[in-house]
Amino acid sequence: MNIDTITICGGGNAAHAMIPVIRNHFSGKINLYLPFGEEATHFQSLIDENKLLTATLGTKKIYGQPDKVSRYADEACQDADLILMPIPAFAHEQTLLQIAPYLKEEAIIGAIPARSGFEYAAMHILQNQKKKKVKIFGMQTLPWACRIKQYASKVDILGKKNSVGMAAFPHEITPELATFLSQILDLNITSLPNMLTLTLANVGQIIHPGIMYGLFKGKEHMTYQKETIPLFYQGVTKEIAGTLKLMSDEIIRLAQRIKTLNNDVNLEYVMGLQDWLNYSYKGSITDNSTLQTCFNTNNAYRGLRAPVKKKNDDYIPDFQARYLTEDVPNGLVVTKAIAEIAKVDMPVIDEVILTICKWIGKEYIKGGCLKGKDIKDTRIPQKYGLTHLDEVIIY
Ligand code: NAD
Repeated sequence: MNIDTITICGGGNAAHAMIPVIRNHFSGKINLYLPFGEEATHFQSLIDENKLLTATLGTKKIYGQPDKVSRYADEACQDADLILMPIPAFAHEQTLLQIAPYLKEEAIIGAIPARSGFEYAAMHILQNQKKKKVKIFGMQTLPWACRIKQYASKVDILGKKNSVGMAAFPHEITPELATFLSQILDLNITSLPNMLTLTLANVGQIIHPGIMYGLFKGKEHMTYQKETIPLFYQGVTKEIAGTLKLMSDEIIRLAQRIKTLNNDVNLEYVMGLQDWLNYSYKGSITDNSTLQTCFNTNNAYRGLRAPVKKKNDDYIPDFQARYLTEDVPNGLVVTKAIAEIAKVDMPVIDEVILTICKWIGKEYIKGGCLKGKDIKDTRIPQKYGLTHLDEVIIY
């Protein structure tokens, strides 16, 4: 794999963490593509002043900076062999549309994390742009929990995953790409057999909307003091864990149904939620006897509270949080769309989507089907003309 230039898209928490990490493990050129607002000018002027971006990981500090910063897709992407998109899923399509015309013929482009349905949007845009040789990939989660401390200057990497799943299309490039990404991101990467696994095994689609549903359904108008804001993961009750289990079971049933319809599709990594937690947070969970205790006793989740916003002197649930606005249209709704194609019912996931739609002011489901007026803002395969299971499972 001949990768001399990497372009990182976006200037959020994840991009800030990625720049110094990659700089320490890759000797080629790093471009930063910042089309959003005034980010490029702002970032460039600060990096000129500060010189280096510092990432703090425990007691370790690493440094790095991009070689080029640009708000223009041609300047940032035309020499890139690998393009990384560590940005929210709702910005993937817009970013792909901007950069696709300038991609090298054999470039590789990936989303970190992919969420669900990235493959349908990406392949649709690349095919329209006649970029037939461009390859795509996605990672199952962001490798780090990270927060910008000071824009273009300091970022805290608060935790790093033991291992992150990655899948690519065409599938043949996955092992070599996994090796390269492991090296530049300083990470254990598990090669996944296909991108359908990323879509179905996007655990954020269960955990984030599912816990929000459990915490706030029927309590939408509750107000909280700072110290009474519900703990997100430690606040998972037996009842909430029950809902999460039912959501997870519905996705497992969908995977089993797809296997029945086409035995060649490998979906062995689409695990039940409790199995995934045990696999991903090995060593960090002190009591793994039930799904509830896997959340309540996971040290990586300790102290994290539900997303809220300030209202006067109180706090109220934040229904515009990413946990809903990213994970429902780019997660649960995509999975439900595949279930529709495979003719699998998902009553619990439907109930969660319908409740959250009221909170976020969107209509994805109408008359029991994915025909709501806001379905165009999701990444369901049907939006890209993919209506048969054979077309969906090839990625
Ligand atoms: P962020 O909010 O910090 O990223 C914002 C950046 O994304 C902006 O600065 C901009 O550069 C870009 N962006 C946003 N909207 C855009 C748009 N409409 N068009 C173009 N660019 C746009 O997000 P983050 O914390 O870096 O997270 C990136 C992804 O990683 C998200 O999917 C998030 O859910 C996921 N994630 C983050 C963390 C974390 O600890 N930060 C942990 C797990 C998963």
